[in-house]
Amino acid sequence: MPDQIRIVLVETSHPGNIGAVARAMMNMGLSQLVLVRPKVFPSPEADARASGGQDLLAAARVVDDLEAAVADCPVVIGASARRRSTLWTAMDPREMAALALEQTVHGTVALVFGRERTGLTIAELDRCSHLVHIPADPDYSSLNIAMAVQVLSYELRMAVLADRPVSVAEADPPAAAAQMEGLFAHLDQALHDIGFLQSGREGRIMQRLRRLFHRARPDQREVNILRGILSAAQGAKSMRASEAASSDHPGIASSAGGPHAS
Ligand code: SAH
Repeated sequence: MPDQIRIVLVETSHPGNIGAVARAMMNMGLSQLVLVRPKVFPSPEADARASGGQDLLAAARVVDDLEAAVADCPVVIGASARRRSTLWTAMDPREMAALALEQTVHGTVALVFGRERTGLTIAELDRCSHLVHIPADPDYSSLNIAMAVQVLSYELRMAVLADRPVSVAEADPPAAAAQMEGLFAHLDQALHDIGFLQSGREGRIMQRLRRLFHRARPDQREVNILRGILSAAQGAKSMRASEAASSDHPGIASSAGGPHAS
């Protein structure tokens, strides 16, 4: 999805800024850069500031006007240093990231940045379907362009990471209620078997343990591991008990214990 996000810079004056934008994009996993009439490009200064982002810079497309940069984009988001008049309602960066990622299913989403000195013109803002404003101090709200790209692409990155079904693909399914009840019944039995709980004197231990395990939200495999441990403890206990019964040391079998109050 991040490859469906395009950063568009309009008439950037300083090549160093273009390089810094490329680096910020690389850091955040973005790759599409389009330059509308850059003053100086390509340039060694841009390359130097791009650091590891030179390939991204070399692949940048240079076009003559904003239309050419965004023609294929169903959503065009203008980044504005000023809160404009009521004609535009600006999103904050987080809202922008959620919307942008959602809209990549329809095609490439463009994020448009203006000139260092004068920003985007009214006509260019009119070309945008949405507006985003980084809520900086109103007395000094204009960020360096590469910093603005950094902030917005960071929010996009966070949205991508939050969206990724990593754990769904890799994790075992969560234990269902019936499996949890199986665990609790087993735990109850095992705690009696090993002498930690005694009939009639259980107090609220099981209730507390239920809360503890529910809070941990174990998956199915984890519940199976826990039940394996319980079975092993029960087995060890009964083995010790039978060993003790057949030996001259009956004391061993009654040594396990624990607090019985809740
Ligand atoms: N003096 C210009 C600001 C130019 S900064 C003006 O007042 O418009 C260059 C570009 O960086 C801006 O056009 C905008 O795309 C981006 N930018 C800077 N600060 C921003 C902010 N607070 N929110 C969103 N974009 C910002």
